[in-house]
Amino acid sequence: MNERLLRAVDDRADDLVALTADLIRFPTVNPPGEAYRPCAEYLGARLKKLGFETEFIRAEGTPGDTDRYPRINVVARLKGRSSGACVHFNSHIDVVEAGEGWTVDPFAGLVKDGRVYGRGACDMKGGLAASVIAAEAFMEVYPDFPGAIEISGTVDEESGGFGGVAHLAKLGYFSRPKVDHVIIPEPLNKDRICLGHRGVWWAEIETKGEIAHGSMPFLGDNAVRHMGAVLQAFEDELFPALDRKVTRMPVVPEGARRSTMNINSIHGGQTEDFRPGLPSPNVPDWCRLTIDRRFLLEEDIATVKGEVTGILERLKRERKKFDYEIRDLMEVLPLMTERDAPVVKAVARGIMEIFDRAPEYVISPGTYDQKHVARIGHIYDCIAYGPGILDLAHRPDEWVGIADMVESAKVMAIGLNVLLRGTTG
Ligand SMILES: [Zn+2]
Repeated sequence: MNERLLRAVDDRADDLVALTADLIRFPTVNPPGEAYRPCAEYLGARLKKLGFETEFIRAEGTPGDTDRYPRINVVARLKGRSSGACVHFNSHIDVVEAGEGWTVDPFAGLVKDGRVYGRGACDMKGGLAASVIAAEAFMEVYPDFPGAIEISGTVDEESGGFGGVAHLAKLGYFSRPKVDHVIIPEPLNKDRICLGHRGVWWAEIETKGEIAHGSMPFLGDNAVRHMGAVLQAFEDELFPALDRKVTRMPVVPEGARRSTMNINSIHGGQTEDFRPGLPSPNVPDWCRLTIDRRFLLEEDIATVKGEVTGILERLKRERKKFDYEIRDLMEVLPLMTERDAPVVKAVARGIMEIFDRAPEYVISPGTYDQKHVARIGHIYDCIAYGPGILDLAHRPDEWVGIADMVESAKVMAIGLNVLLRGTTG
């Protein structure tokens, strides 16, 4: 039924590969936010040639934004012949550092054995390229389409999205009536639809002590030992309790269907770096611990925080001289788009047609820019769908399969057809 549309995508397979490789060649490493401007300008120029109106929005004053590393986002919009819904494809253009262990140049955009290699190949320049090709194919076959298509390349997703989607959402770029449906082509595999993510609470806990000479610790009060008591209570009570909480959310991988907490860091006492040569023996008067708690749709944030503060309060009552402070660093509520939401149904239809089976619905263990689309933009008709194998993201020798990208672009093109023209063929 969508034969012409699918053929139009196939005709562009070489172009899809070339576009992916070109995008990889911009080393948009974050932090610090390298090469954002040329990458955004390249994407903008490409879309402008197709008839999109393009805008470049610098997120001034957001974390990391400097004249050397400006946070440049591009938003492109193509209006159809008549009024109708707007489908927005949002991709982040930033990538994480290459790291060690590569056998190919991470920024060369090497094409080999049916794959495109490079940092960001799967996360998520391959997905971005697939969405551009899907839009191109759709426009060619249905030049009179109603509504609008938007494609954005945004920055800083890997560091929280504050200079990217969050900034644009605050400016109204992700709100009705401008935008109705959002697809984020993150690498969740070509036949899966990601409906949302678990919640996050980051906090810093500080225990207090009293400084004294290290040879007479009884004269002071050791903040690191107090933190040891906190960790012991976490081991004895909190971790087993979290492990008993299981969600109905279809989180992948399976292990993330439970509540989890990571200890991100612990610091206290004198420096480990003796190179300056002047360590002095003291009883540490502070110790800080950062926790990363991931929670489930079934949990509310007040309870999540209460589990930790309850332990700290009890230690304060029971342990001599124990005192603490706790500071929130970040909180994001869990999100799950309904399976009967329009964007979910449209993309599911595409997956059905291309792979002849129903999609697998998943939830991401960690958050991504959907949180800003929902919480700031108030658009809940949003999913992540894109080519690439999630496990390869952030790894050495990252790659994206060419056939996977082509099939994903077909699914996206069918999704556009359903959402904009209300038809399956
Ligand atoms: Zn990503």
